[in-house]
Formats: sequence, structure tokens, C-alpha cells
Amino acid sequence: MTGPILQVALPSPLRRLFDYRAPRGVSAADLQVGQRVRVPFGNRAMVGMIAGISDHTEVPANRLKPAEALLDLTPVLPDSLWRLCLWTARYYQHGLGDTLSVALPVLLRQGEPALARQDQLWQLQPGAYPEHPAVQRAPKQKQAVQILAQHPHGLSHALIGQWGLSRDTLVTLEGKGLVQRIERSPHHVAEPLPLLREAHLTANAEQQAALDAILGAEGFHTWLLEGVTGSGKTEVYLQAIERCLLSGHQALVLIPEIGLTPQTLSRFQQRFSAPVVILHSGLNDRERLDAWIAARDGDASIVIGTRSAIFTPLARPGLIIVDEEHDLSYKQQDGLRYNARDLAVYRGHLEQVPVILGSATPSFESLHNVQQGRYRHLRLTLRAGNAKAPTFQCLDIRSRPLEGGLSRPLTELVGEHLKRGNQVLVFINRRGFAPTLMCHDCGWIAECRRCDARMTVHQSPPHLHCHHCNSQRPLDRHCPKCQSEDLRPLGAGTERTEEFLKERFPHTDVLRIDRESMSRKRAMQDMMDTIQSAKPCILVGTQMLAKGHHFPNVTLVAILDADGGLFSADFRGPERMAQMITQVAGRAGRAEKPGQVIIQTHMAEHPLLIELTERGYPAIAERELAEREMAQLPPYRFMALLRAEANQASAAEDFLEAALEQAEVLIGQHNLADIDLLGPVPSPMERRAGRHRAQLLLQAAQRSALHQLVHMLLPLLEQHPQARKVRWSIDIDPLDM
Ligand code: ADP
Ligand code: ZN
Ligand code: ZN
Repeated sequence: MTGPILQVALPSPLRRLFDYRAPRGVSAADLQVGQRVRVPFGNRAMVGMIAGISDHTEVPANRLKPAEALLDLTPVLPDSLWRLCLWTARYYQHGLGDTLSVALPVLLRQGEPALARQDQLWQLQPGAYPEHPAVQRAPKQKQAVQILAQHPHGLSHALIGQWGLSRDTLVTLEGKGLVQRIERSPHHVAEPLPLLREAHLTANAEQQAALDAILGAEGFHTWLLEGVTGSGKTEVYLQAIERCLLSGHQALVLIPEIGLTPQTLSRFQQRFSAPVVILHSGLNDRERLDAWIAARDGDASIVIGTRSAIFTPLARPGLIIVDEEHDLSYKQQDGLRYNARDLAVYRGHLEQVPVILGSATPSFESLHNVQQGRYRHLRLTLRAGNAKAPTFQCLDIRSRPLEGGLSRPLTELVGEHLKRGNQVLVFINRRGFAPTLMCHDCGWIAECRRCDARMTVHQSPPHLHCHHCNSQRPLDRHCPKCQSEDLRPLGAGTERTEEFLKERFPHTDVLRIDRESMSRKRAMQDMMDTIQSAKPCILVGTQMLAKGHHFPNVTLVAILDADGGLFSADFRGPERMAQMITQVAGRAGRAEKPGQVIIQTHMAEHPLLIELTERGYPAIAERELAEREMAQLPPYRFMALLRAEANQASAAEDFLEAALEQAEVLIGQHNLADIDLLGPVPSPMERRAGRHRAQLLLQAAQRSALHQLVHMLLPLLEQHPQARKVRWSIDIDPLDM
């Protein structure tokens, strides 16, 4: 055999590497793990990454193909990020090639050079200044000159967009002789500006104690910053970042959803004059790559993004923050099912930098990690400034009529708050007009034809919509069973609540906030404007409302239906419900005005509700964790969930039966202790989008035994003849089941 063998990770679902010869003309000395190569795969070309270099292969010489081209001179990822990807693939039992393609920007996956678009900087010409006559009547150009004046050493190409400048403007200025392009020196360092645009707030005693702890510790620690809503967690982040930047490092901030939290973002931009890159879904592929490169090369000081931003390389990492660490959006629910919060902790360990997990309602996993001594607990128990904590009250709605989901006493209370000139927030966790369409004569219910689920009634425009598979159809005119025309929407969703409140309070603005209403372009801004205006108004919305917003003039928060979480089949139901109520409630009474929280329920005596309203989230967490320990559930036991789905009714369960048998054999052969195999059973919604679904749960006392089992099991399943009839996946540390 001549020459080195490249073991290439390719974006394929198979958990293996593929062997190739080195590209023609490339010598062994040019090859490194972490470089990308273009290779022939089937009858097309694919971009993959060199994951290993070996001198032998099992592939017969006549079938071993050479790679077509080497795409990078050096590894495309810094070493720590490469190691993070290796660990991610191993931990989540996913193919390395596919893991890398989640981690890399699209253009790099497609083989684009991993270099800044131009290794060039924009700089003012000597003699150009903001009052220059040539820009006086061109506000954009004037602004560009102002911004460049703050960057005497030049502003890199990747960052001009982040400063609100367009390339065209700069080219025009170049034509006027006011701006020039200069070559970037290989060790370009961002210029030492005054770091802060505005002074930081004076930390209160609790904030200061948290900061002292975080900044006083060396190296890697995970801090769980548990602070009630409005306690000033963000200010702690900002001051920790300030120190991080002052010492010449970069900070990575993960947030749950960018579109929903413009306020948080603008606080970062207002505070720092250092370059902030925001990885949001509105970026095109090129902008995303530019931002990625700016982070990797150290041009960006602060990187803010959602889940996948955890894979952003940093030249000088100094701090990782995960805001609202309990949020479910950190868990990817398909393909590579990773949890960005957990990866953040591992990455902090790899990079030896502190990790701050912040939340008003920490996940029970994180609280457990505190109990185990793995994370350190920091608490902010008081609201910052003069804001007061809200008061809670359960409103028993048994046998009370509901209109638009509201009971009479609640509607009256809404009126009182409005009369006092305040704003009201009405939370209902269902979009659409009504969750059910029912025949009043025979009890028929409109169901989805492709799912085991009911159709939701929507009003504008009128139609039936399945929220699980997205299928839609016109409203039935008469009952298909008894031909009656008396079909009635049953229960309330956001649209119906909105309609009722508009009717009842015709002179008050009623704003609906849910996925449909927010898909309109300016919806978010309109909402913010109304809220800031401090005029009396009613906000009706789903949990979108609960995410990180500040509603300083809201004095009443009404939760229309809290009962779902009380008898949920998921063992995490109580945790979710307590988080949701606490988060929604936290929107009230943030400024000087005290807030009132009303929870409508049919189960006012439920211990969970009583505990939550009287003693708050930490008490619930403590009790529920004790119950989980008794019941041997996560975080006291480790889980992996094998899911399968198929068009044919029995195929998924047959496949999982085969998996169960294999797993039992492996457990016996390798003497794996204390592993339970539960199932296969039909998934909670057995039929979805026309496919039949089932699951097999693997549970163990030891994470290592569980991973060992899954690691041996999956290659066998990939080969299994039944596997071709199903779509299957593994979910490590599953969150929904
Ligand atoms: P959290 O992120 O915990 O919900 P924030 O950081 O958003 O809380 O702070 C809530 C409000 O309190 C914000 O308006 C913020 O400006 C204000 N605030 C935070 N810290 C202080 C402080 N030390 N002094 C005065 N106001 C503060
Ligand atoms: Zn009928
Ligand atoms: Zn459906």
C-alpha cells in the first residue's frame, strides 16, 4: 500500500468513517486531522473532514479511491472545538460526519474556503472626518465615517454588517477618497477602545457576591445563577463579560430564542463598544460564515446565539453563559439530539473557562448537579431596583362558566386593573381559536386523519389545523356522523380569548402574541411599542410571552389553565408546570408597581399548586427531586430512548423487539449491571403524520454502563434487516417521552 489512508467523516447517518487515499499530488506532510477534503461518494462528490490518518485499511486496494481535493491548509476548527465535536458524537452516539455538519456553517460544509471574505480592513483616509463636506448630505455615509473614526486600526469586513454599515456605502466612500482598504496584519488585534459605551449599574449586595465568586475563581467552574425574575441576572452577565473582555478574552452567550428577546440583545449592544456578533436565523449563509470566522479569528468580542452557537469557535475563550438554562429549546429534537446547555459545561471544561447557567427556574438536573457538588450555586433572591415580587392566588373555576377561557371574577379583575391605567397579561398555552370542534348532537370530534390528535379550530382564516403534522382542512359544515349542523368549537385558544376580550373591553388595545401573530414582520416591534407606551392594554399569548421580556407596566398576570401539568403522563410535567407559572408570573410588577398573579384551576387544593403559590419554585424543586429519587427517575437514573416509526403498523414495534433482544444479549455477555429495558411501547401519540411510532426506553443507574450498551447496540441495529423498514433514532438524556 502506498501513501497514507485518510479516514474521512462524511455527513452520512452511518456511525463510521470512510477510507480514502490522499488526493493526487498531496504528500503526507500536508495532511492533518481536521482538514476538509472533497471525496467521491457513490456517484457524487461530498465534503468531509479528515478524522484520522492511518497506514492501513480493510478496503481492498482496487476499491480504495483517492480523495479529489484537500480543501484546507490547516485544520478548519481549533483543537478544542474539534475535541468538542468528537465528544459530542461519542456522547450522543451519533455519526461524527453528521455531528460535524451540525457544527459547521453551511458554506464550510459545501467546501467554501474557511477564510474571511477578504483579509482586508476598512479604514478612514487621513484627513477624513465626520463633518467632512462630502458626506454632509448622505446620512449613511456620515454614520460610516463616524463609526470608522472609532476604529483607527480598521474595521474588518466580517464586522461591517454588525455595525449597521453596508459594503456599498463603504465603496462609495472609497470612491470619494475618504476610505481605503488595507491589508490585515496576521496578528490583527481589535483596538483598545474604551470598552463600555455606558457605565455599568452599581451591583447590589447579592449581585456583587455572585460576581466576586465568579471572578475570584480560576479556570473552569460551572455556576448555577438562580435569580428570581427581575433580580438582575443579566447585569451579572454583563459585568462578568466586562471583566472577561478587559482581560483580552471573548465571551459566548447562549439564549433560547433570538427573535423573542430583542431587549436582551440591545442591552449587550448598548453596554459594550466591543464588536458583538449575533448568530440569528435572519443571517444568510455568507453572513453566518463571516460571523463564525470573526469569532474564530478573535475579531468578535462577544458572540450571542441560540442552541447551535455552542459550536462557534473562539480564538480567546474566556466565559460561557447560558441564559434561561432550563429552556427546552437548548435540546435539539431531531438528528443530532444534543443539549447545548450540557455541551456548554463540557466546553467550559475543555477550554478551562467559567460557565454561568442562569435561570429563575433552574432545571432539576442543574439543581441536582449543585447538590452533587458539581455546580456551584449562586442566588439572587431579591428583585433589583425597587421592584416587588408578585402575589399569587388560585382561582377555583369548578362549575363556573368560562367566556373566552376567563371566569367572571377574572374578567372583572382585568377590568379593575385596566381602570387603574395598568396593563394585563393573559396567558393561555394554546394557539388557535379552540382546541376542539365538536358535534353538539352526537359528540363527534374533528380529528386529524394522519395523527392520533384533535384538530384545532382557527378563525382567521377559518379552518381546522393539526398542530402536530401541520395538515389543514376546511371547517366541516355538518357532522360526518349524524349530519347535524350544530358543530361547536369547544374550549378556548389565544384567538378566542382575544376575540372575547376585544368584545368585552372595546376601548382597550388587545394584542395577541403567539406563533401565528408573531410571524408578521413588525409584530414584535408593534408589541414592544405598545408595552413601552404604558397605555392600558391586554396582552394575550402563549409561552412566547414568558421568555425574558420585561413588561414594566403589567400589574395583573392571569394564567387561564394550569391543570394540564397536574395530571401529565410525563414525569417532568410538574417541573414544566412550575417553571411555566413562575416564568409567566415573573413578568408582572417589574417596575414600581406591585403585581398580582391569578391562576385559574379546577384543582385549587392540589398540593403542587399550593406549594408553588405559598413557597415558590425552590420548594417545589426540592420536593419533586426527592420524589424522583424515590421513584428512581432522572436525574437519579440515566436514560436513552430508542424511537422507531414506520408506515406499517407493526414494523416499528417489531424493530424495537429485535433491538430489545439484542440489548438483552449484550447485557448478559458484558455483565452490565442495573440496566432496565422498558418497552417497546407505542409512543405517547402513536400515529403522527401518518406514521406509527414506538419506543424502547433504556435506563441505568450508571451512565457508563448505559453508554457502553448503546455503543455496542447501535452498530448491530444499523446492520439489522428490520432497520430498513423503519426510521429509527437514539436520544440520549431525552427530555420528551
Ligand atoms: P433578570 O435577568 O434576572 O430577569 P435583569 O438583569 O433583566 O433581571 O434586571 C431587571 C431590571 O432591574 C432591569 O431593568 C435592570 O436594569 C434592573 N437592574 C438590574 N440590576 C440592577 C442594579 N444593580 N441596580 C439597579 N437596577 C438594576
Ligand atoms: Zn354529529
Ligand atoms: Zn396531524
